[in-house]
Order: sequence, then C-alpha cells, then structure tokens
Amino acid sequence: MGEQEFAFVREAFATNWIAPIGPHVNAFEAEFCQAVGTSNAAAVSSGTSALHLALILGGVERGDEVVCSTLTFVASANPILQVGAIPVFVDSDEASWNMDPGLLREVLSRKAARGKLPKAVVLVHLYGQSADIDPILDACEEFGVTLIEDAAEALGATYWSSRKTRPVGTHKGDPMDPGVDVLVSNCPEGKTAVTPGTMGRFGIYSFNGNKIITTSGGGMLVTDEAALADRARFLATQARDPAPHYEHSCAGFNYRMSNVLAGIGRGQLRVLSDRVEARRRVFDHYVKELGDLPGLTFMPEADFGRSTRWLTCLTIDPGKSGGITREHVRLQLEQDDVEARPVWKPMHQQPLFAGAEIEGGAVADRLFELGLCLPSGSNLTTEDLTRVVDLVRRVWIEGKATQA
Ligand SMILES: *Cc1c(COP(=O)(O)O)cnc(C)c1O
Repeated sequence: MGEQEFAFVREAFATNWIAPIGPHVNAFEAEFCQAVGTSNAAAVSSGTSALHLALILGGVERGDEVVCSTLTFVASANPILQVGAIPVFVDSDEASWNMDPGLLREVLSRKAARGKLPKAVVLVHLYGQSADIDPILDACEEFGVTLIEDAAEALGATYWSSRKTRPVGTHKGDPMDPGVDVLVSNCPEGKTAVTPGTMGRFGIYSFNGNKIITTSGGGMLVTDEAALADRARFLATQARDPAPHYEHSCAGFNYRMSNVLAGIGRGQLRVLSDRVEARRRVFDHYVKELGDLPGLTFMPEADFGRSTRWLTCLTIDPGKSGGITREHVRLQLEQDDVEARPVWKPMHQQPLFAGAEIEGGAVADRLFELGLCLPSGSNLTTEDLTRVVDLVRRVWIEGKATQA
C-alpha cells in the first residue's frame, strides 16, 4: 500500500459509506478514466465479473463463438462458458507472447467464408505487456467483431498505436496525479501512447491481490460508450428498474465494487507508476545477474510498447542449458521456500476446454513447457533478489559439476 489508501478508507468509515455505492466509487471511476485515457469506467467486484458483463453487453449469447488468447489465466475464458458461448483459442506470437494478429485474421477469414463469425474476441495482455493491438483491431473492424481487451495483467503498460486515438492520461503538476507521465515517455514520433484495454469496445482490469495495484479484490470495465457503462452499473446492481418499489425486467448480478475498496483503489492509482518502475527494476536486476546463463532467455519486450514487467518471466531451453530445465530451477527455489511458477498452461491444454478449437498452439505450448515466472513483487529487497539469483545460478553451477 501507498500512503493515501488508509486515509481514503478512514474517510469511508467517517462518512459511513460502507456499501457498494458512494463517493469513492464515483471518484475511483473518474480518476481511473483519466489515468488510462478512456471516457467511462464501471467499478466492479473483480476482473472476472467485468469480463462477464463485457460479454453480455457485447451481445454474446448461448451458442455463439468467442475467440480468446490460449496463453492466459483461466479467468479470461471462464466467462465465455458462463454466457454459454463456445471458445475458439488462438496461439501467441513470439514477440509479445500475446495473441498472434496473423492467426486471428486467419480464423476470422475462415469463419467469415463459412458464413458464421464469432461474436467477440477476448484479447489478453499478458504479464504486463500489451498485445499488438492495431492489427488485431483492424481485423476485428474489418469483420465486424467486437473486441474485448483483458488488461487485468497490464495496467500501467503502454502500446504505441498508429491510430488516431486518445492517449494515456497525463497529469503533470496535478496534486491528484496518478503518475502516468512516466509511462508515455518513450513513445516514438508519430505514434500515440495508449493503455492496453482502452482500444477495444470494452476493456477490463483487475485489482486482485496479485495484480500491479490492488484493492484486495476488484475490477473495472471501461468503454467509450456511456450507455454501455450505465448498463454495466445497472446489471451489476441486480438490474433494478427505475421505480419506487423493486421492479426487475431482466436478470442482474451483485457485481458492484464496495466504497471501502474503491478508497483503496484511489490511493493505489496514485502509486501506479511507482509500482511499474519497481517491477521494471526487479526485471532489470534479474537480467543483469542471470542474463549470461546459457539457455536462459527473458520474456521479450515487443517494440510496439512498454511493459510493466508485472512478472519477470523467462524460458529455459534444455538444449542450450546443458539439460537444465524450468523444473530444475523451480524445484531448487521451492527447496529454499521461494515460490516460482510455470508460465500459464494454455487453455487448449486444459481438461476444462478439451476438444475446443485452437488456431496454432505450438508457441503457447513451448512457452508453457519452458517458461517460469520468478518472484516479482514491487517490494522485493536487494537481499531477496540476491537470494533468488544465487539459487538460480546454483542450478547451473551444480549442473556443470554433475557433467564434469
Ligand atoms: C487476474 C486475471 C483476471 C481476473 O481478474 P480477477 O479480478 O481476479 O477476477 C482475468 N484475466 C487475467 C489475464 C488475469 O490475470
């Protein structure tokens, strides 16, 4: 937590706004819009609920197909099942580990030729890095398919867009500065720095405990269409029709964010750029200390944006590391009580989605087989990092010793 979160929470208590409604909720939405550069935001109870609402508002119905990145956390795909739709998974590209725009276009062309297009595309921005949004949005527009961006892991990232579009918010000199100026700093001439999540018809963010900023649990749905944001808030509060009594003409949800948690969110937004810089420092430290190990390759930063390095991810190629695998490293860390996790297991490999359609898949399969996420918290100390580095290096030192 930063310094202001508790002040906002105290204010919620002092004013007795302990409810899924209140001034912090409204202010958090407005400040979030400014920070990411969008015009409407609806604060909800989780990223997953935001995605569920986006699918409903996007008109996805039972039996429709929805395209989704295969390399992701299951929460990107679960809401597709919840609306009764059929997921069609698409592989990653090597440059960003996110959805391959060429493969998406192939899927959409093929489906168009057969006369039935998917209703929506769920584009995931993984591990703090934007996908290549421009060509993906081009394809979605060409085929008339709704783009929903799952930016749960990518708040604070930027994408350099060639489109004429709204830039990331800037707040220089503003005492309420969410501190995003730094995020737009490297944008190449002629491009616009945008936040992943703000380009599609809908974008979703998460404030779960593990994300770059957190409200313990929470999410945000963003859209340029005010009527859709209003509809989202309506559905998120049990779809109560305007009447003095309780009148309902459609089924809603209990998805609104609590005013207490929105207070935390307001404070967290003000430290977003600090958190991004902290995560990038963690990444740089690992690169400096581990970059020479044979067979070890860090997740690339694509040339179309700036990653937050939410997690430091890497792959280990046993063909080049002298037989050392991702699992050797993970288990070495685990032995010393340091948790590291494999890269997401692709959705097309999950029992839950057995038999689902997959376009490509070899890149995501390889990233899962070889990929590892190192401890990456914003509050890791140099001593913490040194401990992780020493444990990882030991695998190579002992590997060599075994061979000798
Ligand atoms: C965390 C996450 C979500 C879900 O967010 P919650 O707030 O935990 O519901 C969705 N998609 C991705 C890629 C995530 O990492």
